[in-house]
Amino acid sequence: MADSIKVPFVDLARQFRSIESELSQAFVDVGRSGSYIMGQRLESFERKVAAFLGVRHAIGVADGSDALFLVLKAWGIGPGDEVITATNSFIASAWVIAATGATPVLVDVADDFNIDPQGVEAAITPRTKVIIPVHLTGRAAPMDEINAIAQRHGLLVLEDAAQAIGARYRGKRAGNLGNAAGFSLHPLKNLGVYGDGGLITTNDDALAALLMKLRNHGLRNRDECELWGFNSRLDTLQAAFAEIKLAYLDGWNARCRTIAASYAEGVSHHVQVPVDQPWEECVYHNFVIRTERRDALMAHLLSQGVDTRVHYPIPIHLQDAARHLGYKRGDFPNAERFAKTMISLPIYPELDDSQVKQVIDAVRSFF
Ligand SMILES: *Cc1c(COP(=O)(O)O)cnc(C)c1O
Repeated sequence: MADSIKVPFVDLARQFRSIESELSQAFVDVGRSGSYIMGQRLESFERKVAAFLGVRHAIGVADGSDALFLVLKAWGIGPGDEVITATNSFIASAWVIAATGATPVLVDVADDFNIDPQGVEAAITPRTKVIIPVHLTGRAAPMDEINAIAQRHGLLVLEDAAQAIGARYRGKRAGNLGNAAGFSLHPLKNLGVYGDGGLITTNDDALAALLMKLRNHGLRNRDECELWGFNSRLDTLQAAFAEIKLAYLDGWNARCRTIAASYAEGVSHHVQVPVDQPWEECVYHNFVIRTERRDALMAHLLSQGVDTRVHYPIPIHLQDAARHLGYKRGDFPNAERFAKTMISLPIYPELDDSQVKQVIDAVRSFF
């Protein structure tokens, strides 16, 4: 089977090879420096990525889930609190809420796969503390509407920007659109390292100072512990790799947008394709089409050597882990319908034009 795949869904080694000498040099530099936890190389990446995103603070952490979890902990979220997020997301958007002891409150998504502001407003109770909009597929959630709702109800907004590094919304980057944001540097994300990694951004100085301690055992300095914390640091080596890759990110994201435009033009007669609004720049972590003939199309694409995925086949409210929340089938019709009709086509900067054409031809030949 693997041999007949002409367009793999991911091809991380291809990108690695393209920058292998720079990465190798970073490995040697960090190795020779003798500094492997925290230190200058981490601070240098944090400074550069904060400037790139246009935020005051960027704080490296162990992974994207921890980024979200640590912000919730820093805000004192816990038992008795409710936190709202989207049901069509990666499971981490919800488990980080449960991990604090708070209750995840799920909301349906709209046609752009992002959380529906009307659903958010309807889900607010006196216990609601935070809204976590997910910038799914690399497209910013409708942040103007969400921030307005948060303001009306005195809530905090935590962007789950795991899939959206570099994305823009009304002139600002994702990560600069709420009170704080969590990014993932998982290898599959648009700025992926060579293991796990994550990043928190915020313009709130006090929050940033607290998070710097929380990620490092609650230590104020080497010997004094101010509060119970966690060990959730971004490895210095991964930060060095991320700093190298950051210089390529806008170019890589632009290539993904070009591929997305080709896909949209090539297959929009046959399937529903994502639409870019004039005020936004999606970075296409995923390119998700929709069709009633989903399973047959996926099988056909595979027979043509095009590997695809579904993000996500089971909405969070229907996961076993979420059973205690009391949701049932039918609660979130859009997410449930999308789960049966979505296909993610391969999209990454290293895809060449002939592969893009193969994907388009394979979709067309089915219809
Ligand atoms: C990847 C992802 C996360 C979690 O990031 P990790 O680095 O894997 O912990 C959270 N939310 C969304 C939407 C993601 O795609």
